[in-house]
Amino acid sequence: MDEYRIALIPGDGIGPEVIAPAVEVLAAAGKKFRRRFTFTMLEAGGAAIERYGLPLPEGTVEAAAECGALLLGAVGGPQWDNLPGSGRPERALLDLRKELGVFANLRPAVLRPQLRDVCPLKKELVQDGFDLLIVRELTGGLYFGDRGRGADGRSAFDMESYSAVEIERVLRAGYEAALRRRKKLTLVDKANVLETSRLWREVNGEVMGDYPGVAVDFLYVDNAAMQLVRAPGKFDVIVTSNLFGDILSDEASALTGSIGMLPSASLGAAPGASSGGQRFGIYEPIHGSAPDIAGKDMANPLGAILSAALMLRYSFGLEEEALAVEAAVTAVLEAGLRTADIARGSTKPAGTRKMGAAVAEALAG
Ligand code: NAD
Repeated sequence: MDEYRIALIPGDGIGPEVIAPAVEVLAAAGKKFRRRFTFTMLEAGGAAIERYGLPLPEGTVEAAAECGALLLGAVGGPQWDNLPGSGRPERALLDLRKELGVFANLRPAVLRPQLRDVCPLKKELVQDGFDLLIVRELTGGLYFGDRGRGADGRSAFDMESYSAVEIERVLRAGYEAALRRRKKLTLVDKANVLETSRLWREVNGEVMGDYPGVAVDFLYVDNAAMQLVRAPGKFDVIVTSNLFGDILSDEASALTGSIGMLPSASLGAAPGASSGGQRFGIYEPIHGSAPDIAGKDMANPLGAILSAALMLRYSFGLEEEALAVEAAVTAVLEAGLRTADIARGSTKPAGTRKMGAAVAEALAG
């Protein structure tokens, strides 16, 4: 039986509550498809600060790198808010991403027909739901460029800088994702103003020929922001820079109704022959540790469960298993089960554990 090694960092607040159902669902998938998933439990964030005095204890990165993928809950909480930046729980995330070399952040935003009533857009705009994927460059651009103040402190600058290598690798991640989906890619930029955007288009011109099956179009970011609320169903894969991706992915997530539904994948280099087809990635729901509902069995575990599905697809190449997990989530929603964040009207909300168990059961079939 094939073995797939998974590092787990449940983290803080609702992190452990949503990771437990994700593991339960993976176990059900392993049983059904005869795959052996093994788990290495690691600590980071607030839990690690309490135990070791550090948000990312020594050896954590190395232990994670020995696995094929990392599944993470969430980190942070008010009890650590007064620590200096480098000692805060969230620092662990930045260091993990950097040290583990993940540069492409994939954020699918899906409005399932069953959840149309939790979408803030008018019904007629989202009649058929939508299913789009934002691929955001994660380790370059404005957030990592030089920044500073002028001599008198009354002027400031932040530099946007991209190399062709950084652009090419994230574009390729976008094209590969598009090939698995509806084969449409939209490059979002501001090429009418920014030189970096013009380089993105130039590199895209060099890369797109390798993916003849994918239809490409271009949108300026201001127009893309508008199209997202006018016709989200038109998009398949959006590829964009760190800054634009940050903003657009939050906009897209708001359209799905609850932050608790959304998964993410952060991917590194494409697999080489020596890795047996496995590609390392960090998988996490996009929400935080939600201290307001932690410990109350109220968190929606579907973002974490769907993150596990992305892990099966992108790190382990287990497409059938990934689809089965996603279908189990759909089946449970179809049956009417809702956690509090997506319950409307007279629906009695299900707890985190009940929701997780229902997905595992639907998968086992
Ligand atoms: P949050 O995402 O934790 O919570 C925002 C709101 O959404 C809250 O009302 C919360 O109850 C709700 N919510 C979040 N996840 C939910 C789920 N699965 N089911 C139902 N409701 C859910 O954001 P925040 O309140 O700004 O941050 C709380 C802490 O989390 C902070 O310490 C922050 O730094 C940290 N944080 C961590 C990550 C991460 O680990 N990736 C991301 C964002 C924030």
